[in-house]
Amino acid sequence: MSDETPICSAKGCRIEAVWVLAWNNPKIHTPERRKTWLACEEHREHLSQFLGVRGFLKDVVLLKEWEEPR
Ligand SMILES: [Zn+2]
Repeated sequence: MSDETPICSAKGCRIEAVWVLAWNNPKIHTPERRKTWLACEEHREHLSQFLGVRGFLKDVVLLKEWEEPR
């Protein structure tokens, strides 16, 4: 993470992100690959459901507890 303020990934949202949604699309990503979306408190559920219904969602972690895989 850079020291820029992380912003929610929801369309049009400019609120500071609190959550990290880790996901993987098995059609285009290898199984260990993790894409991440950031979410504010308000959009965490919306974004989780979007990924969840597609079977992509792997993990929802507080941003402060998230560590980028090295
Ligand atoms: Zn948001």
